[in-house]
Amino acid sequence: MPLDATHDPLATSWVASANAADCDFPLQNLPFGRFRLGPTEDWRAGVAIGDQVLDLQQAGQLQSADMAEVMQLPAAERHALRLALFEGLRAGNARQRHWELALYAQGEVELGLPCAVGDFTDFYSGIHHARHVGQLFRPDTPLLPNYLWLPIAYHGRASSLVASGQRFHRPWGQVLPAGATAPQLMRTQRLDYELELALWVAQGNTLGEPVPLTEAESHVWGLSLLNDWSARDVQAWEYQPLGPFLAKNFATTVSPWVVTLEALAPFRSAFSHPPGEPQPLPYLDSAANRSRGAFDIQLEVWLQTARMQAEGDAGQRLSRSNSRDAYWTLAQLVTQHTVNGCNLRAGDVLGTGTLSGPLQEQGGTLLELSQGGLHPITLHNGEQRCFLEDGDTVTLQAYAERPGARRIGFGACRGTVLPARVSPGL
Ligand code: MN
Repeated sequence: MPLDATHDPLATSWVASANAADCDFPLQNLPFGRFRLGPTEDWRAGVAIGDQVLDLQQAGQLQSADMAEVMQLPAAERHALRLALFEGLRAGNARQRHWELALYAQGEVELGLPCAVGDFTDFYSGIHHARHVGQLFRPDTPLLPNYLWLPIAYHGRASSLVASGQRFHRPWGQVLPAGATAPQLMRTQRLDYELELALWVAQGNTLGEPVPLTEAESHVWGLSLLNDWSARDVQAWEYQPLGPFLAKNFATTVSPWVVTLEALAPFRSAFSHPPGEPQPLPYLDSAANRSRGAFDIQLEVWLQTARMQAEGDAGQRLSRSNSRDAYWTLAQLVTQHTVNGCNLRAGDVLGTGTLSGPLQEQGGTLLELSQGGLHPITLHNGEQRCFLEDGDTVTLQAYAERPGARRIGFGACRGTVLPARVSPGL
């Protein structure tokens, strides 16, 4: 994906809000998402521009309102669509008169999942998170030996993936309280978030036919943010030997816009494993993956407590990290997932796993920031947190910026914790 005219940092749009310096959706971004005008209306395929969304069918760029039409396009035709959208939305283009009628204010529509989601797999590619959490769960062997050789993952559920704005009840689950000999069914006491990116699959692969590393990115539509809400006490009791289960599948929130790999082309970075650590096996290695396999995306977690909301306080940033610090690239996730012939399909979501930075304060979970719940963090209004409390709203944000490129953002991935139901309903 070479740089082209659509990455010109000086290009501006006739949609004025897209030209603000801090806008997540300038002309150079053009992320895809679905929206509807009301709860009983049909979903429409759109592209974000400034604080607006352009209806792709109404603008004559798609035959239907179905986002699958975009995802089924071969990579070259997706590129042609990006060029057409860029030119049509560019300042001075004659399409303005027609396309203005296909614009809707993002604040006045409902933003949903970007497409119908197929399967959801969650990887564990953030090595700093894996080390920090491993130290808490297994002080003797924080990283298990396989970690340095392959991107590990578990199969999650797509059914509980919801677009930003999700509000969910604190879940009930089976927990073994400290010192107890028998577990209890209780409200989770250790509710947490996980700062992740979601990889959205465009074209899939045929069952039985692995995707080589050199072709892996052509199967990737783009990225959004993903919050893999987790009940740590449920997780600690249930996770061995088969991995996460009910600690994870009660809610997973994603941001509504898919930022394409084309939009991210100016923000690529070199990738390597540190000297002295195992180097990737040949099927997980290529010259392109080494020279530009990583993505330089700034990630942030924000918390607004119920008290902050009541007092008109917008909340505070809990951590910052960068997706560049992952131990495996997106291409390696795709190739590893298909090395046995497993077939990915359009609309599948691959989570990266929590993307923490190397420093303790860069942890992408409260589990890390509070060091296993032992050291509460103090918020700017004096409140403290080891884990999430009822009424807390967590917002993930991400953006990419570099000298010589236009800054692009991902939009918000926001979710709110509601009190547990009075009884588990059983
Ligand atoms: Mn996760």
